[in-house]
Parts: sequence; structure tokens; C-alpha cells
Amino acid sequence: MTDTLLKFMLGAGHVRGVVVRLESVWREMRKRRQHDALVQNLLGEMTAAAALLAGSLKFDGSLVLQIQGDGPLRLAVAECQPDFGLRATAKAEVHGVGSLSELANAHGMGRCVITLDPRTKDQGQQPYQGIVALADADGQSLSDLGAVLQQYLAQSEQIPSWLMLAAGEQAACGLLLQRMPDSGGTAGTAGRDAEADEDFSRAVHLASTLGRDELLQSQPEDLLRKLFWQEAPRVFSPQSPHFHCTCGKKRVADMLRMLGQDEVESVLKEQGEVDVTCEFCGARYAFDLVDAARLFRPDVNQPPAPPHPQ
Ligand SMILES: [Zn+2]
Repeated sequence: MTDTLLKFMLGAGHVRGVVVRLESVWREMRKRRQHDALVQNLLGEMTAAAALLAGSLKFDGSLVLQIQGDGPLRLAVAECQPDFGLRATAKAEVHGVGSLSELANAHGMGRCVITLDPRTKDQGQQPYQGIVALADADGQSLSDLGAVLQQYLAQSEQIPSWLMLAAGEQAACGLLLQRMPDSGGTAGTAGRDAEADEDFSRAVHLASTLGRDELLQSQPEDLLRKLFWQEAPRVFSPQSPHFHCTCGKKRVADMLRMLGQDEVESVLKEQGEVDVTCEFCGARYAFDLVDAARLFRPDVNQPPAPPHPQ
């Protein structure tokens, strides 16, 4: 399997983790949309990170990870669906700059936004959004997406976390470790908490010996065995991340409807058809005169509502 996501637990169960390796997803992304190498690598890390975060949450919905930059990188987005369908894209004008802070935090205004969008909204479930600066508590720019997300997890989930990301020629990979939340309340909790702290620091210490190259070159199971053999890792059944774009003709039609009839007609007059290319996967959607007329005919667009179930 070239794309794998594994959840695991270490030792006495105080530390949980996720490891992901994307090969064909990463290949597919680069085949469909070309970006400057720096932006491309950031997108690889973001895609691995989106899968890691989705894998660490008990949440049924899509996870959207965004970098909203104030430098040459305006916006980078990676999305993970509940079945680990992944896609990513970026808007950037990059000319020879290097780190994340130079790309996206040139004036200290860059931020990282994480949105959890529940699959079903019928029980009043609303999307949840968390925002974190691309700088540490002292306002010092962070040069690494892993550090940004570590900060996000500490703030939003209040769970000590450790994270490493890497993207290279062959693969985009990531490793996440989290200290399990305290059970709280019962007798002897303090002892268990100290033990959990100790287990977590030992796991982080072991993981910190890992270099980015090694992360990129290792298969997830081998990596866990090699890093944590003393901690007797328990690995859960693997998930299969895959490239998946959620675009489609209906979504493009909805977008054109939002744009309005006048706008669409003026493009039609000028170009003969309205041509929309998906920013994520490069798919093209063409609307000619007939399609466009159908867009704005209410009787065709809005089928009668089904009778309300009693
Ligand atoms: Zn698409």
C-alpha cells in the first residue's frame, strides 16, 4: 500500500498517535496542479497534516486546513473528507523566498485556520473554526508548519502534542503524538497523571531522534517499530488515504448562480461559453448558452420539495 494512515497507542495507553504516508495522493496532486517547489512542499505537508488531524479526532465530517498568508503566499488549503479523501491547492506568487514565515507571515498577519465541517447538520451541528497565528506567544514567526499546528493543538484541544511533517520527491509524511487526556476525579489520579506525563515525554524524546529524511523514507509500520519498540506500539487497522476532489458540475452551477445572471451572460457574450477550472484538481466545466439558460430557470433548477415527513 503506498498511501497509509495508522493510528496507534504506546505502552500503558497514555500516549496515542497517528502516522501517515502519502505517495500516490502526493503524485496525483502534483500531476494535476503545478506550483512553485516551496509552495508545493508546503501543500504536501499541509495535506499530510490534514490527514493526521482528521485521524486524531473523533469527528464525522470534513477537515479544512488553511494558511492565510500576508506575503507571496495568499492562501493554501488542504482538505480531508471523513473517508480520508484528500485534495489541496494554493494561490501564490512566489519569487525565491524560503521559509513559511517569509512565504506567509511577512508582516506578522499570517494565520492558520482549521475548520471542522460536520457531515450532517440536521441536529443543529455547526462548523467549528479554530485560528492560530503563524508566530509563537512572543510574536516570533514560526518557520515550520509542524510548530504552528503543535501550538494550535495545545491551545484548542489543551492536549500536549508533538508533530513532525515532511514532503519530498517521493512522499508527503507526518507523525503525531498526543498525551491522552486525564481521566480526572478518581483516587490515585495524580499518580497516573505523573506516569502519563512521563510516558509522553519519553515518546517525544524517542520521536525527536527522527530526521525528516528518515520520515520520508520509512514505511509507517517500520517507523513505529523502529522508534517505539520499547513502548510496545499497538497499531489499529490501517486507513487508506486517497486523492479525491469534491468538485462537480452541480457545485459549479451553484457557484455561477451566486455570481448572478448578468455576470454569466456578459461572459457568454464575450467568450461564447463560461469555462470554469477547478482550483484543486484542474477539472474543466464548460457552460454554453443552453446550459447557462437552464441555470437561471427556476422551474428546472428547483424540483418541488418532497412532502415533509410526518
Ligand atoms: Zn476538482
